[in-house]
Amino acid sequence: MDPVYLTEEHRMLRDTARRFIEEEVQPHGDAWEADEEIPRTAFTKMGDLGFFGVQAPEAYGGTDMGPVAMVAQWEELGKSSYGGFTGSTSAHAEMAVPHLINAGTEEQKERLLPDLIAGRKVSSIAVTEPDGGSDVAALKTRAERKGNDRWVLNGAKVFITNGCLADVHFVAARTDPHAKGSRGISMFIVEKGAPGFKVAKKLDKHGWRCSDTAELVFDDCEIPYENILGEENRGFYAVMMNFQNERLVAGAMNAGAIQNALEITTRYVKDRKAFGGTLWDKQVVRHKLATLATQAEAFRHLTYHCAWLVSEGRDCVKEVSMIKAMGGELVNRTMYDCVQLHGGMGYMRESPIERMSRDARVASIGGGATEVMLEEVAKRM
Ligand SMILES: Cc1cc2nc3c(=O)[nH]c(=O)nc-3n(C[C@H](O)[C@H](O)[C@H](O)COP(=O)(O)OP(=O)(O)OC[C@H]3O[C@@H](n4cnc5c(N)ncnc54)[C@H](O)[C@@H]3O)c2cc1C
Repeated sequence: MDPVYLTEEHRMLRDTARRFIEEEVQPHGDAWEADEEIPRTAFTKMGDLGFFGVQAPEAYGGTDMGPVAMVAQWEELGKSSYGGFTGSTSAHAEMAVPHLINAGTEEQKERLLPDLIAGRKVSSIAVTEPDGGSDVAALKTRAERKGNDRWVLNGAKVFITNGCLADVHFVAARTDPHAKGSRGISMFIVEKGAPGFKVAKKLDKHGWRCSDTAELVFDDCEIPYENILGEENRGFYAVMMNFQNERLVAGAMNAGAIQNALEITTRYVKDRKAFGGTLWDKQVVRHKLATLATQAEAFRHLTYHCAWLVSEGRDCVKEVSMIKAMGGELVNRTMYDCVQLHGGMGYMRESPIERMSRDARVASIGGGATEVMLEEVAKRM
């Protein structure tokens, strides 16, 4: 059943996303996984279709359709069965770029936003460090002002999606070493080629194979003074604010991945012969899938409800944390059961469910681990 918040315009956007997956992702996904990267042409095609500007101002090439449209689009793209594809493209559009939209100066936006929204440039958000990701306030990368015209960054970031591919990195660094915890952190724009910046390593991972994940190093990395993004020493609050959108898009993608896994598995068990009938003839199998479908439907509607709360400007940190926690766990539980119902085939690389189960694992870790999300919920109970 479609969520009540969906309009005709949202449905059209969803149809465009569905066609894009059929024509431009499914035929190429296996090759992208083998190459461990998504070609830039996929980004420009998505840019042409408006997928990167759904929440961006029209003045810079966006369509400004709001959070419900964003969820509808990424839920559909989340059905691709290639989690690395949605992970990489959503990290660009809905996790990195919003930092520029929300805090950028007119000059920064005019210079960068049109290319980012069109997919001609790719971006990353670089917060996590080798010493920790959950505790953002403890980050150590330093940014020091040198003279009146530049910042010098020193430190390292790890597990950064699009770390190799990105032309623009939005980087969190400590600007006031004396300020405790969350105070004294600022955001910076570091462009490819900045002196002292390098991609130290492309990381080898369990799932999301086609999405590049990298370690970044800043070794006396010099950037122009005007590349500070937003107010000095207020970066932690910008990261926290943008986490809301990041968690909402994660909810949408998890909702899509869960529905796709259930469809694939239902088809499989209806066809699979065993004990004189099909697997679907077994009540325990039907009930397992029916229970997962019920939870998936509840989760999906809560995700849309969160999108609506955001569009209404309501405080919904608790609800958004709920969907990040619930989605991260539900997508993993669903994939586990779907692999089980595929039997040996579920363990084979040729089966999409095998890849989907690996791709799902990150959902309860990245962008706020389940435990961290449940703390956010508990604080508000
Ligand atoms: C594929 C992938 C892509 C990523 N992309 C990006 C990116 O683009 N940009 C970026 O900045 N980061 C990115 N990350 C990093 C991700 O956000 C972090 O891995 C995540 O926030 C957890 O941080 P950590 O790995 O340092 O784990 P830790 O902070 O060391 O936590 C380890 C585990 O401890 C538990 N835990 C943590 N805190 C608590 C607590 N308060 N109470 C109870 N248990 C707790 C959780 O189970 C957690 O998984 C990515 C990670 C992966 C795997």
